[in-house]
This record gives sequence, C-alpha cells and structure tokens, in this order.
Amino acid sequence: MTIEVVLLGTGNPLPDASRAGAATLVRAGAKTLLFDAGRGVCMRMIAAGALPLMLDAVVLTHLHSDHICDLNDVVTTQWVMAQQPKTLPIFGPVGTQEVVNGMLAMLRPDVSYRIAHHDDLTWEPQLEVKELGAGVVLDDNGVRVVAAASDHRPVEPTLAYRIEHDGNSVVIAGDTVPCAGLDELCAGADIYVQTVLRDDLVNAVPMQRFRDTVDYHSTVEQAAQTAARAGVRTLVLTHQIPTPAPGSADEWIAIVREHFDGEVVFGEDLTKVSAPPVA
Ligand SMILES: [Zn+2]
Ligand SMILES: [Zn+2]
Repeated sequence: MTIEVVLLGTGNPLPDASRAGAATLVRAGAKTLLFDAGRGVCMRMIAAGALPLMLDAVVLTHLHSDHICDLNDVVTTQWVMAQQPKTLPIFGPVGTQEVVNGMLAMLRPDVSYRIAHHDDLTWEPQLEVKELGAGVVLDDNGVRVVAAASDHRPVEPTLAYRIEHDGNSVVIAGDTVPCAGLDELCAGADIYVQTVLRDDLVNAVPMQRFRDTVDYHSTVEQAAQTAARAGVRTLVLTHQIPTPAPGSADEWIAIVREHFDGEVVFGEDLTKVSAPPVA
C-alpha cells in the first residue's frame, strides 16, 4: 500500500545525454499516473517497467515545451498497442485542449496510415482531455489527486498536484516559485518533488536568456525552505538548472541542508522514492 515515485526524466530544456526531459511516474494503489511528458518519456517509462498502455492518466503541470514535447509519443504508443479502443485521460491546466488539438492535427497523417494498414485498428486515439482548476482531480479506488495553483508566471495557469493513498502523500510541484497553493499541497507530505534552479550558477553565466529563468523557478534554497515550512519527510530535487556537473550532488544537497533537515534525494533519471520508505 505504498506510493512509488519514479523520476523518468530529470533534465531541463537543454538536451543532455543522460537526462531525459521532465516526466515523473507515480504508482499509487492500482493507479499509474504520468506527470508531464518531456523528451524521451517513453524510453524511460519502459525502463521503469511501464508502458503508455498501463497509464490511467497523463497529468500536466503546465504547457512549457520541455514538459510536453513527447506527449505525442505517449499517445501514439498507447494507441497502437491497444487491442481495443482505450481512452487515455489527459488532465492539465486551461490551454491543454488547444495543445492536444494541435498535437492530434500533427498526428493526422500517421493515424490515417496506420488505420489504412492494419485491418484490426479501426479507431483513432481515444483521448479525454480535462482542463483543471484547483481542487480534486481524481478520487477513485483509494487514490486521491488534488491540484492547486502554482506560480510560474508569466506562464499561467500552472498547477501542482498532491497524490494521496492509504495515508501516504506525494507532491509533484512542477516549475514554480514558492506560493500559497504549493504550501497547502506540501503540508505534512511524505515526498515533495520540486524542479529546482541554482541561482548562484545561473547568474554567473553571461547570457541574459539563461538568467531570465531565475525568476520563475524555485531555487534550491527556496525548495528547502518550502520543505521545512511544510514539514515534509523527503525533498526530491529534479529538473536541475543548470545541468549538474558530474559529482556535484553533494554541493546541491549542502545548500538544502542549511534550511531543511529531512531526507534529501538528488534526482537522476530513474531514481525511485517511496512512501512509506522501502525498508
Ligand atoms: Zn516551465
Ligand atoms: Zn521546465
């Protein structure tokens, strides 16, 4: 009766050979949920023992390209592997329907080729898009998912999520600075997964377009402060900006340590974290 979190992709928008794009798998009770669908998501899913066909829903934190650029691969793979029509729910903030419509337009030639080629494939991808506000997203079979507004302005609206099952809880924060919605979700959570940025390193790069990213991400300090304020058990760092130098994990963790004395996990692709912890 645990919740298991697998960091599928811990990369940021810049391509990296060992970090896929933003995506996190959450297994809670009988539910398998995918949060965001960045670069390489299907490759990492199979490495985590999951297929798009197994997903109960794809849940998007926001519509930045690094969080959705391989959503089409999830949709296509789910569709071509299904033996009968199977609906894939896609939840996300307002704007998700428009993005999915555009994606389906892009896939139209492929969908027509495959339907023409396979006698037993007679249906198009079955998607059910639900645009969300704050509140309960899902409450089924002992698994509850709650959304709250995050703050990634000028990107808006954006959402963070709390997943609850059997007394355990996980927060998938997405890209956000500290805010009331995030604090609410994080209160007493077992696991808090936060995309983070090192402002000391980013501000040292003489490139304004890169420095622009500082104002709408949680710094490592801020993530640690949110974790401490909320009394979470485990803080998980993901989507690290800039891409961490090899062997630098301790440096990032040391910054957290100044503000938070719980468990800290420095995320790499396919890092697993569970609530309760696996003995
Ligand atoms: Zn973003
Ligand atoms: Zn991002």
